[in-house]
Amino acid sequence: MLKLRNEIPDKNNVKSPVLLLNQNYQPLNICTARRAISLMGLGKAEPIINSSRNIRSATTSLPLPSVIRLYYMVKIPTTNRRLSRQALFFRDKFTCQYCSKKTKQLTIDHVIPRSKGGLHVWENVVSACADCNHKKAGLTLRESELKLKASPKSPSPNPYYIFQHRNIAEEWKPFIPWEA
Ligand SMILES: [Zn+2]
Repeated sequence: MLKLRNEIPDKNNVKSPVLLLNQNYQPLNICTARRAISLMGLGKAEPIINSSRNIRSATTSLPLPSVIRLYYMVKIPTTNRRLSRQALFFRDKFTCQYCSKKTKQLTIDHVIPRSKGGLHVWENVVSACADCNHKKAGLTLRESELKLKASPKSPSPNPYYIFQHRNIAEEWKPFIPWEA
């Protein structure tokens, strides 16, 4: 076990981001290498993928972890996510909910148009590509003859939320569905 507290750790590497997986391999959080090594040292997690770099202390050198997995299951708290463009696109995995096209050029579509009294709530918004948004415009589903892939829902426990605004390491991608 590497005791970082009592030794001089490699300053750059202890802060490297590490993807922390739940017992079932679902992404749980992004932590620092220091925390990852501590979790493994306590017997709470195992390394899944190491980076090509090493982490050094005064007396030891270990492979720097990139992905680790907990030996136990953590229940992800259910929270009501604030509705934002980014959070919506993440919920819909950057996929147009009408034509299934995957794109980063998405717009927010109100299933029941706001002009017809539709609310700006999770259950009434979907990600739409520019073409579908243009077809749908101020029309209802029936009027537009477009079909939804699924009824929109509040994105309660969404483990993928943690990747917002983060650089995603190459070796993390197999654990993130829309990157696969
Ligand atoms: Zn579309």
